[in-house]
Amino acid sequence: MNPVLSYTLITLGGVGFVLGAALAFASKRFAVEINPLVEKIQETLPGANCGGCGYAGCAAYAEAIVLKGAQATLCAPGGQAVAQKIAEMLGLEKTVTLRRVAYLHCAGSRDKAKDKYVYDGIRDCRKAVALGGGPKACEYGCLGYGSCVTVCKFGALTMGEDGLPKVDRLKCTACGACVRECPKHLFDLLPDTTMIYLACSSHEKGKAVKDVCSVGCIGCGICVKVSASDAIELKDNLPSIDYGSSINLILAQYKCPTKSYIDQAIKRPHMSIDSKCKGHGKCAGICPVKGCISGEPGQPYKIDPLKCIGCGLCLPVCPEKAIRVVGAMGYVGMDMYN
Ligand code: SF4
Ligand code: SF4
Repeated sequence: MNPVLSYTLITLGGVGFVLGAALAFASKRFAVEINPLVEKIQETLPGANCGGCGYAGCAAYAEAIVLKGAQATLCAPGGQAVAQKIAEMLGLEKTVTLRRVAYLHCAGSRDKAKDKYVYDGIRDCRKAVALGGGPKACEYGCLGYGSCVTVCKFGALTMGEDGLPKVDRLKCTACGACVRECPKHLFDLLPDTTMIYLACSSHEKGKAVKDVCSVGCIGCGICVKVSASDAIELKDNLPSIDYGSSINLILAQYKCPTKSYIDQAIKRPHMSIDSKCKGHGKCAGICPVKGCISGEPGQPYKIDPLKCIGCGLCLPVCPEKAIRVVGAMGYVGMDMYN
């Protein structure tokens, strides 16, 4: 063999061997041990990486639970079911109860709901309701005289300028005084992690609702259909929702023709497709938002961040795992450390 070629091969072989040995040594010496419990908890979390728990993503939250004693109840998408599983993994008490907060199931503010007569009596909802159910044209709507605000001993309720009571989630102790006081039964104590909720209590249908309120539920059942979950069903023209489950109401809120759902998140993450995309187009096939995902078969697809609602339906269908979550969720007044 040509001596130059021999020397070259020997030199390259030697360098390769030394570098390989160095890499093998480094991988052992600097290997980061992953706590198996962190891994297990991370697998239990829904993988939304929304940041709603206050940590940078599901992995960081899992680590915080195991190493920093963070509460198991901070995952909004996972809800009660996930919190319960994590608590069991940690060997905590069998039943985990999420902190509860009062939610008002009415969005019929002065500019959205009509009155049927002018009420000039005592500014008290219980007294007003005695006069033909009160002045609101919607028999289920909030009267706006603030009896709930008066009975709240914790200052968690105030009357908004729009004529509807506002809940301060940090001050609410879930004592239930407002629930008992409201003559229209508009309050409910729901898990504090509930981001999207139904803000209507009307059992009327279509025209009867539209005649009195621009944001009232018309009982069309679209939200029930798109959610495809046992945790939501239409009962007497109104969706009945198990907020303690891990139901994802993003689609329900997006598709509701009357905008009867309220989303408390001020910002939601969106999805993005990276260069691993081989253009299968499965994501575009499942995305419920028109024009959000575009592309040609065999070419990398794209997601319009301004159109993406963050429902995450595209994540599990991508065979190349080319879709990732970008950004974190912003919460309105959420106390995650209680
Ligand atoms: S929620 Fe009930 S008690 Fe409070 S202002 Fe409305 S009708 Fe009155
Ligand atoms: S989609 Fe909206 S209007 Fe229709 S049932 Fe659901 S909440 Fe009511």
